[in-house]
Amino acid sequence: MDEFALIAQYFARAPRRAALGVGDDAALWPLDGQRALAITSDMLLQGRHFLPDTDPERLGHKALAVNLSDLAAMGARPCGYTLALALPEVNEAWLAAFARGLHRLADAHGCELVGGDTTRGPCTLALTAWGEVPTAEALRRDGGRAGDDLWVSGEVGLAALGLALQQGSPDSPLLASQATLDATTQARAIDAHETPVPRVALGLALLGVASAAMDISDGLSSDLLHLTRASGVGAQVWVDRLPGHAALAALPVAQRRALQLAGGDDYELLFAAPAQQRPRVAQLTQTLGLTLTRIGRLTPLPTVQWLDHAQQPLTEVPCGFNHFAPS
Ligand SMILES: [Mg+2]
Repeated sequence: MDEFALIAQYFARAPRRAALGVGDDAALWPLDGQRALAITSDMLLQGRHFLPDTDPERLGHKALAVNLSDLAAMGARPCGYTLALALPEVNEAWLAAFARGLHRLADAHGCELVGGDTTRGPCTLALTAWGEVPTAEALRRDGGRAGDDLWVSGEVGLAALGLALQQGSPDSPLLASQATLDATTQARAIDAHETPVPRVALGLALLGVASAAMDISDGLSSDLLHLTRASGVGAQVWVDRLPGHAALAALPVAQRRALQLAGGDDYELLFAAPAQQRPRVAQLTQTLGLTLTRIGRLTPLPTVQWLDHAQQPLTEVPCGFNHFAPS
């Protein structure tokens, strides 16, 4: 039983008062007739999501960033969060740095820490964050329509490269590539993995523009399936047009595709928008100073096709991350 089957079987329940329940980047809880709270929880576990020697200040940033990214994916403006923290011991230097990273990002988004819990145990960071969104305009995964353009923000695959460089297993083909990457590029890739930038401003700007959206956390190839299934459509994606750092272009094509399609932790937004919104999306690239790339379109046929530069479907598609995936 994989992560998604587990949720579907034991925890997905029909919403009663919620405007949107289990299965999107965040739930929607109605505040009044017009507005809702988007609510999300994300957990980071040492050894699973981060290495024991991860810089605590960066870890504080990331723990909140992954939650803010889910709020961004709904088009919500962050309001507050709670923090449940398990630690094997009290290390004040570690805690001070962790809190610094956490508070800096929270303050940048006006997001208040209002409670939580602490306990002794294996290092685990569980946050619940919420933000406000106009209910009818919230960016859900199920609003995509056949014919809509498919867009992605920023660059895809760099965080996965950062993780591969940090893990540096000796048999990794990336190790050979590592020699060709300069120190600045390596640092940029590691930054992308450790300090992702939640696309909150983009999410807000996409209200009334995008028909569906989600953030890329597990890898584009598996994340896109959640959006197309929720919307009851398929997609065609031009794999060789995926935006990536120049360092990725220098890699052998199979490695580049694996990083871009299966590599997670990008925390960029994947969104659909009707073709008549192209000028507005182009304008957002300017006003936000953030590259937005049209990578494909939604199709009526409910399958996802990954097309190469010759418009031929890839025979093998690297898959994203799935907790509890059968091994
Ligand atoms: Mg998400």
